[in-house]
Amino acid sequence: MDTYMAKDLPFPESPVVPEMVDGSKTIQFQCRKGIACWNACCSNIDISLTPYDILRLKRRLGLASAAFLQQYAVPYEMEKDGIAGIKMKPVEGGSACQFMKPEGCGVYEDRPTACRYYPVALLSMRRQDEYTDTHSYALVKEAHCLGHNEPRSLTIDEYRAEQGLKEYDEQGRGWRQLVLKKMSSGPTVGKPSVKSRQLFFMTCYDIDTFRAFVDSGPFKELYDVPEAERQAMLGDSLESEEALMQFGFRFLRQVLFGEESIPLHQEAADKRREQARTKAQQAEREAAERLAREEDPRDEGFDD
Ligand code: SF4
Ligand code: SF4
Repeated sequence: MDTYMAKDLPFPESPVVPEMVDGSKTIQFQCRKGIACWNACCSNIDISLTPYDILRLKRRLGLASAAFLQQYAVPYEMEKDGIAGIKMKPVEGGSACQFMKPEGCGVYEDRPTACRYYPVALLSMRRQDEYTDTHSYALVKEAHCLGHNEPRSLTIDEYRAEQGLKEYDEQGRGWRQLVLKKMSSGPTVGKPSVKSRQLFFMTCYDIDTFRAFVDSGPFKELYDVPEAERQAMLGDSLESEEALMQFGFRFLRQVLFGEESIPLHQEAADKRREQARTKAQQAEREAAERLAREEDPRDEGFDD
């Protein structure tokens, strides 16, 4: 029997240790100032951002979400013709993080989830068509990272607490569940329309535009949101923006999966359904007329 070495494989050896572990697993790791590899991990980035990462970073930088996206982010397709994800945009013409400073991370208190987790990888899984997800972890060992040689042991749960991940994981859960449900439900739910993909992008990543959308006349007319709840999420404090983001995840369950996660004003909903029915009938009529024209030889343009 042939023995394949990692070097013979047509893709580079993965730094992910092939073992799924839970939070009680003890790891040996410490990242500290003065270590020889200081900033090596931030010099060559491939970091996905969650909606909560964007919210924290744009607040720290005092930017509107759209301006943050333009300056610090690049969208990517999480799946072909599917919903979009966001990655950090490195420095112009290079691969280093724009926030990297000689003394370390320039946005440390608001650094993204992926930076907090490193060198642990979070693996979320869920059963098809369910929202409940289960968490496992894997360890990422890259040759340049000397933190694994440091004489400090702690469990993954202790490491998560130290890195402030409890709050980040809680705030990001609704989004992760949406993505997992979308990606694992495949053809049963179908390809999202362009409009629902745009709504997903705005709601998850451009919270300032989403706030204006929630505060708009047509939204208020259609969705029955109690006034106190609406007011609580329209402010500009961190708590308000967190509430708005969580409301957005609920809204997307309606947009992507047709769940009635936000009650509708009955009259407006009936009117909408009626408008959609009329539009569908008109499209059907136009298609039938087009077909009839194509089948009519008088319209084929033969010269006698
Ligand atoms: S955000 Fe901070 S920790 Fe994350 S890659 Fe950039 S500099 Fe490094
Ligand atoms: S120990 Fe690892 S995480 Fe810390 S600076 Fe070095 S490469 Fe980055």
